Amino acid sequence: MTTFCGHCSGVITWTNHWGEQTASIGVTVCAHDGEGHAQFQYTHTHRSTGEETQCDYKVPLVTTPCHFGGVRWWFLCPLSRYGVYCGRRVGKLYLPPGGVYYGCRHCYDLSYESRNEPRLARPGGIGYPLVLERQYEDLYGQVHRWTYRGRPTRKAKKLRILEARLDACCGG
Ligand SMILES: [Zn+2]
Repeated sequence: MTTFCGHCSGVITWTNHWGEQTASIGVTVCAHDGEGHAQFQYTHTHRSTGEETQCDYKVPLVTTPCHFGGVRWWFLCPLSRYGVYCGRRVGKLYLPPGGVYYGCRHCYDLSYESRNEPRLARPGGIGYPLVLERQYEDLYGQVHRWTYRGRPTRKAKKLRILEARLDACCGG
């Protein structure tokens, strides 16, 4: 998610995790002062039964300061699993085949682990941004201190490197 502010809406075509176009989706983003929501509106068609579900829901957006300037926008995953609201702060939402609502990779058990295709997870592979994203999310959750005695902590420095890599491969 790139930087935006204010209110915007439009119809975008969305591709799923595997690069297939899933649907055209109406998205309205409303954001002020570092928080807001994205409203998703689309019709989901069940692959085998053809049954249609009208989807209209809001996904909260939050920001964290990009420690080194600007902010980074995050979705809060709207899914619930076993009755427990996920709410994870994630950079991307996914809609895998069979899914109706967009959710985070944790909820959909998506990952590019080496057990699958290791080459995809390397720099230049299609899974690489996902790997970076995951490292960034995980590390972000671990950083408790940004500086120690006026100097960036080890984790803060690592995060900065990841941030730069993410921006380079995801277009900021
Ligand atoms: Zn989730």
